[in-house]
Amino acid sequence: MIKMNRTEEPTFLKENKKKWTKKYIKTGKWNSKWYGKSRELLIILKKTTDFHCAFCDDVLSPKGSAKGQIEHFRPKEKYKLLSFSWINLFPICEMCNSTKSDNFDILLLRSDSQNFDFANWFYFDLKTFEIKPNKLNSEWKRAEKTIEIYGFNKQEKLERRAFVFENREQNLSAFRFM
Ligand SMILES: [Zn+2]
Repeated sequence: MIKMNRTEEPTFLKENKKKWTKKYIKTGKWNSKWYGKSRELLIILKKTTDFHCAFCDDVLSPKGSAKGQIEHFRPKEKYKLLSFSWINLFPICEMCNSTKSDNFDILLLRSDSQNFDFANWFYFDLKTFEIKPNKLNSEWKRAEKTIEIYGFNKQEKLERRAFVFENREQNLSAFRFM
């Protein structure tokens, strides 16, 4: 989780979100492909993280394991009015997205917060390849909750980090916290 530099809300989102949100509430189906804009929106979001998952920091493209999806920080199923809200949207890898599903907790950290810094909240354990909460931070429970809900330490993620770390000289440095 590295600081995300959220840009201005895209004009097409600003202009259409009311209409799209209304449609989502009416039909229960969120799919901006209908409006031909999901690809554009995903690319704009990925630029804010330099093409990394805004949570586990895996590379989303071009050389990553996942192309990326659009995360609704507050799940669209429960917070329908935020389904097209710019500040509710993040670029995310498929694994983080499927693990989180429609879960939400008020403690969750967001990488677009002002002065967000990985080291304030987490550390990378070089022995186990896990991401752990930095308990020097009095609010470390927030880091713990974020790790749990996005599944930062699922087996596949540990294996991927181990592989990237062990081959870091071959310039596979997918994770910016390494
Ligand atoms: Zn991820």
